[in-house]
Amino acid sequence: MKKINRRVFLKTTAFTSTAAFASQLLQPYPINKQPQPIAGKPLAISSANGTKALEKAMGMIKDGADALDAVIAGVNIVEDDPEDTSVGYGGLPNEEGVVELDAAVMHGPSYRAGSVASLRNIKNPSKVARLVMERTDHVLIVGEGALKFAKAHGFKEETLLTDKAREAWLKWKENLSKEDDWLPPHTIEDKEIGEIYEKYLRHYGTIHCSAVDMQGNLSCVTTTSGLAYKIPGRVGDSPIIGAGLYCDNEVGSAGSTGRGEANLLNCSSVMIVEWMQQGKSPEEACLLACKRINERCREKRLKDDHGRFKHDVKFYAINKRGEYGSASIWSGGSYLIHDGTSVKKLESAYLFKRK
Ligand code: ASP
Repeated sequence: MKKINRRVFLKTTAFTSTAAFASQLLQPYPINKQPQPIAGKPLAISSANGTKALEKAMGMIKDGADALDAVIAGVNIVEDDPEDTSVGYGGLPNEEGVVELDAAVMHGPSYRAGSVASLRNIKNPSKVARLVMERTDHVLIVGEGALKFAKAHGFKEETLLTDKAREAWLKWKENLSKEDDWLPPHTIEDKEIGEIYEKYLRHYGTIHCSAVDMQGNLSCVTTTSGLAYKIPGRVGDSPIIGAGLYCDNEVGSAGSTGRGEANLLNCSSVMIVEWMQQGKSPEEACLLACKRINERCREKRLKDDHGRFKHDVKFYAINKRGEYGSASIWSGGSYLIHDGTSVKKLESAYLFKRK
């Protein structure tokens, strides 16, 4: 009986093309069985660092706010929080000790989006991203131009580097070796180079938040200080519409956190929304995005001894019907849901089980 189930699983999910890969995928992963939702019921999802953001966003949604107003107000709390070293004020800096922020917003009902990247000295990049959407004919403004644009709209420049973040950066700088992002000439066959991210000194972190409001409209936001100690000017997936977030008001909304480079190469958020349109549940669509990243990667330095993608990327998705789900490449991930009553922490589905 067990054998048949496994075969059916492999056939129907098409999660593998090689025997080695199949053996990894035979490991179970959690699927959240959700009751059939009521259409128009408000819902918000976020990465695991979004408890306060979800509470704020849902409070506003219940008072009748548009989902975009709500999710931006929610993530502003995290951007303002000096203790969250992955977003806004207090975010870990680039390799020169300068905090550079990326953010994007997408508004379902008007099908518009705005984003900023490599923005310095402004602690709420999500607010600036919204202004790009509402007050320009552009979608993405970066660097010096983004700062000038923000100042033109009255944003005040301030130092974003907290002592906590500066001390972490100093520790990294003092231990520089293979822990930066510069690589020597190499091929996709090379394995032993650029051993970044594995040390505790490097880390990712971001907040993504998607919501359905009382009118059944969808919107989303992703905001981050990006990869810690990145090369100045490096832009991850977060501010890229279609990669770090995407929403289609008729279908659903999705976003990501984790290794942005992998997501940039796969434009996962737009893929997740498309897969949901084709009938996949949010969780299935997120898992497909993880699978695609793993399968497409050809660079050996990014794979472990079993050929699995070494790093982690997490996805979060909700659909128009109020279903939700999340998945990460590696087990151990979690996410938050606010269903109108309270914030719940749930385990993300995953592709590979971490030992
Ligand atoms: N995805 C973000 C980036 O690559 C970082 C993160 O989510 O941790 O910039």
